[in-house]
Amino acid sequence: RAKERGAGTVEVYAAHMHEKVISRLELQIHLREALDAGDFYLEYQPIVDLGSSQVTTVEALVRWGHEGRTVPPEDFLGAAEESGLIVPLGEWILREACQKVAVWRVSDWDIGLSVNLSAKQVLSERFVSTVEGVLADTGLPAEVLTLEVDEELLLDNGEEAVARLSELRALGVQLAIDDYGMGYASLAHLRELSVDAIKIDPSFIADLGRDDTVTLLTHTIIQLGRDLGVQVVAEGIERPEQLEQLRAMGCDHGQGFLVARPMAASGVEALVGGEVGVDL
Ligand code: C2E
Ligand code: MG
Ligand code: MG
Ligand code: MG
Repeated sequence: RAKERGAGTVEVYAAHMHEKVISRLELQIHLREALDAGDFYLEYQPIVDLGSSQVTTVEALVRWGHEGRTVPPEDFLGAAEESGLIVPLGEWILREACQKVAVWRVSDWDIGLSVNLSAKQVLSERFVSTVEGVLADTGLPAEVLTLEVDEELLLDNGEEAVARLSELRALGVQLAIDDYGMGYASLAHLRELSVDAIKIDPSFIADLGRDDTVTLLTHTIIQLGRDLGVQVVAEGIERPEQLEQLRAMGCDHGQGFLVARPMAASGVEALVGGEVGVDL
């Protein structure tokens, strides 16, 4: 990754643009302009109940529409974090997604929403009141919203992160640990925080049935979830065998290209009240 090489240029971003290597600072300026111009948009990826194959939740995923192309989040979120733009951008994402899902729910569709948070956003001063305000403004019931945080947030920020997430949970929203599995330390936090869901890291799902250790670990995480009363979502399901194994292991929920790809809001609207649109 360009960031890790510390070259001061943004090669990943450049690769998606016109082979132009631009500076981190230029990228930050572009991002600020994009937010003002309304050039960010959201896609939604369905999460299904593996038992019934019904869509229970959609995860909002941000994209940047830039000069006729789509820039994926990993190419700009780092810069947005560094400049602090992630705070207003994150608020826009939350508001936009909550508004959409609130409307979808009006037509009697019991759909939930999952939104990713970045560390800087969670640790920003006014974040809890922002969430409270967005829920009030959009009318989305708090319990319908799941906030996803990476386990590093807990590992790197300890007590402060736990305190902030507890405040969020007190609003009635649900908390999920995203990309779970790499850091065992957060196991302790799971209890402390009374997390509602864990999302198993896609690298585990990729090796499911191919690597004995990974298969055992996945089974253990699912079991742990059951024992703690925490929902388990498997991410990155691409092959039918993975789906079969996860079902056999008693995994609650699944997400991945085999189930459904991230889609525009109009794509989700086509699912309202209907079947998931995939044969699982
Ligand atoms: P994530 O939260 O773990 O989101 C899942 C990512 O995996 C998405 O990539 C999704 O498109 C991708 N994915 C889903 N199923 C499959 C599959 O079967 N195979 C493969 N190869 N990939 C799959 P995306 O949209 O590029 O997002 C990447 C990451 O960027 C997200 O990972 C999340 O950490 C971050 N992100 C995305 N949207 C937001 C946002 O609105 N706010 C924040 N703070 N972070 C976001
Ligand atoms: Mg996520
Ligand atoms: Mg995430
Ligand atoms: Mg994930």
